[in-house]
Amino acid sequence: MTMNVPELFGSKVFNDEVMKERLPKDTYKALKKTIDEGLHLQLDVANVVAHAMKDWAIEQGATHFTHWFQPMTGITAEKHDSFISPEPGGKVIMSFSGKELVKGEPDASSFPSGGLRATFEARGYTAWDPTSYAFIKDDTLCIPTAFCSYSGEALDKKTPLLRSMQALDKSAVRVLMLFGNSDVKRVITTVGPEQEYFLIDKEVYNKRPDIIYTGRTLFGAKPPKGQELEDHYFGTIKERVSSYMKELDEELWKLGILAKTKHNEVAPAQHELAPIFSTTNIATDHNQLTMELMKTIASRHGMACLLHEKPFAGVNGSGKHNNWSISTDTGMNLLEPGATPSQNAQFLLFLTAVIKAVDDYQELLRVSVASAGNDHRLGANEAPPAIISMFLGDELEGIVESIINGTDYHDKEKKLMSIGATVLPHIPQDTTDRNRTSPFAFTGNKFEFRSLGSSASISGPNVVLNTIVAEVLDQFAGELEKADDFEKGLNELVRRELTAHQRIIFNGNGYADEWVKEAEKRGLANLKSTVDALPAFISDKAIEVFTKHGVYSKTELMSRYDIMLENYEKIIHIEALTMDSMVKKDIMAAAYEFEGEIAKTVKAKADAGVGTAVESKQLAKVSALVEAMTDKLEKLEADIEKGSEISEVFESAKYAREVLFEDMSELREIVDALEVLVPGKIWPYPTYGEILYSVK
Ligand code: ADP
Ligand code: MG
Repeated sequence: MTMNVPELFGSKVFNDEVMKERLPKDTYKALKKTIDEGLHLQLDVANVVAHAMKDWAIEQGATHFTHWFQPMTGITAEKHDSFISPEPGGKVIMSFSGKELVKGEPDASSFPSGGLRATFEARGYTAWDPTSYAFIKDDTLCIPTAFCSYSGEALDKKTPLLRSMQALDKSAVRVLMLFGNSDVKRVITTVGPEQEYFLIDKEVYNKRPDIIYTGRTLFGAKPPKGQELEDHYFGTIKERVSSYMKELDEELWKLGILAKTKHNEVAPAQHELAPIFSTTNIATDHNQLTMELMKTIASRHGMACLLHEKPFAGVNGSGKHNNWSISTDTGMNLLEPGATPSQNAQFLLFLTAVIKAVDDYQELLRVSVASAGNDHRLGANEAPPAIISMFLGDELEGIVESIINGTDYHDKEKKLMSIGATVLPHIPQDTTDRNRTSPFAFTGNKFEFRSLGSSASISGPNVVLNTIVAEVLDQFAGELEKADDFEKGLNELVRRELTAHQRIIFNGNGYADEWVKEAEKRGLANLKSTVDALPAFISDKAIEVFTKHGVYSKTELMSRYDIMLENYEKIIHIEALTMDSMVKKDIMAAAYEFEGEIAKTVKAKADAGVGTAVESKQLAKVSALVEAMTDKLEKLEADIEKGSEISEVFESAKYAREVLFEDMSELREIVDALEVLVPGKIWPYPTYGEILYSVK
């Protein structure tokens, strides 16, 4: 059967087209105004919309509705209510009111709040984000909502994101007015997140308690064949994977998600899916749905989808590239070099703003991608490094340099020009010049923030990006509004700020040790782990910028800080316990069994009067490892015990990093050495080779 993609696309979404078709004209207009201008929705309008939405949902086979939201757990939450409403005579009708559409009251007490609900209200409520369309999943009408406490504190990942978009909108419009763009009413940020993942066979998955409980392998010796040959990248997609990808595309398209590219990644069993970009809050909702569907559909195909940042040691981990730009409601991409010098002057001001923002708030960007899982990538010899820097490409870097030095610039045709912010050469879109090691790269008409972990919500990093750029644009607007001579003021500002922030620009190899030294000389932050990075989230500078733009209150920041620390500690703790139980229950037994077998051989050979040098040596080797393993296991257990006595959240997280994490690495090293010696038929778990090549 051939698939009619245009017909399929968005078929499960209550989108603009459906609204236009099903809503009375005035209701549609009122709703549209709410969506386009971010206004408040009136209850009478909501009632009409709810009714139409319900009818549509029922036609699609839905029986329930839910407020779909994104609590601080990082995944999505839903509580399903059916549409039924009792009628006299024991019958029911299907009903759904405007009130139910606009506001929900889930029992919020079991979601993380970092102490917020304790100090404020026990209850939270959800509120519809009408800019993100309702959709149908599992016969349920899902309404994308924000989740707040009754006193207004955000308890989720959507609320601060919407606030940060508003902040950026305000500052950017102010700047655009200075350039005479009086037709621009609204500025939004756009994101296209590229999502990496692993697919493994469900059967091997079920045999690995570490993957089941923690999402990654806690043990595993390197396979004879890893990614050395680089034969997987963009390679032919296996039939089983291909049919998975096909179904995934189909389901995503039905939900109006613009799944565009799919291919194999560098590591065996690793793949990537990239959507076409959309407005940031929608891209965030869609990325959450994409991750969810990746998992459920894998299950249907007898596979497990791993979204962990580092499922396998020694094999490339998974990230998410956050392609980010700023655009206007008139269709201008503000990070796209223009064709005329004046367009380029505007571009250059926005570029300068991003450069300054990334430099001024590099620690905040680093925190926004910090997690236990991502610690295995950032700063651990994998792309990209923990040090935040920016890549501009040769052409743009050359222009920046000549502005700073006040020198002439030779463009591509070797034409000589004397440039300033308002006299610029045509800046060509540079798409070939890529630096894959850079955490934050300009790619022609957008920036690509590459430090995100594969499992994380993209909300956090975009909240930071939007807010810090809003702050800098606000500063720039303030200065330029006061300038007597705009052009002169602009030239001065751009040159001054580029000079001040040039240190953040780095076009070299981000993996090299020299870069670590050079970055230190430049005074750039190198926050290696989550525990190192987190304090920056509640620094005075962070509190100031977030509160000034109404993105997070101080209380909200504090509560999020606590949640991130707690979450980090919990993850390490669970990993430690899982390791402990795997060694005690299975690995130790396998080692003893192997020791017994060798001992038996030694004895039989000795009885027969044959030399046993080789076997004895082997036995000694295994015994030594078993002894070391026993010692390390005891240490880990004792340290887990000690850790449980620490109650302060930061200290507890720090302890997890400095003590438990180190214990685990040491224990792993011994177990992996043992795995190499013990025969496969005795070893209790599938090996790396068996896992990585499990999907045939
Ligand atoms: P790559 O070479 O990194 O694989 P592409 O240049 O094809 O990628 O784009 C990667 C992602 O960037 C896609 O999701 C694409 O939709 C997104 N993208 C393109 N333009 C923009 C933009 N203006 N804003 C945000 N994302 C964008
Ligand atoms: Mg990319």
